[in-house]
Amino acid sequence: MLSDEELKHFQDILLAKRHETQEELNELKELSKEKDQSSENAAYASHIAEMGTDAQEQEKIYLLTERLNDFLRNLNEALDRIANKTYGSCQICGKDIDKERLEAVPQTQLCLECKVKMG
Ligand SMILES: [Zn+2]
Repeated sequence: MLSDEELKHFQDILLAKRHETQEELNELKELSKEKDQSSENAAYASHIAEMGTDAQEQEKIYLLTERLNDFLRNLNEALDRIANKTYGSCQICGKDIDKERLEAVPQTQLCLECKVKMG
């Protein structure tokens, strides 16, 4: 069980990470918009190879966006657990998660043992 001070500490880390992730998502959105515009222009260009690269770029942006959205969801869930004070205990075995592990992966829901078992 974490103290209120410790919960506050992890809340600060999670909020900072959430802010960072949201900024990154905004940047990706902008990037994706630019790419959309350039692929419209590319319709007039005869360089098929360039269009291929653009599609790959779009795909990369899409995958990265998905990953960041997943991360964001995990951060929000961790913040919820801080709010209802279940943060810091493993969702499977209920044991306290190592503080070192929480420092390294503050959005984690599992202790290292369960994480390893889950693969
Ligand atoms: Zn566990």
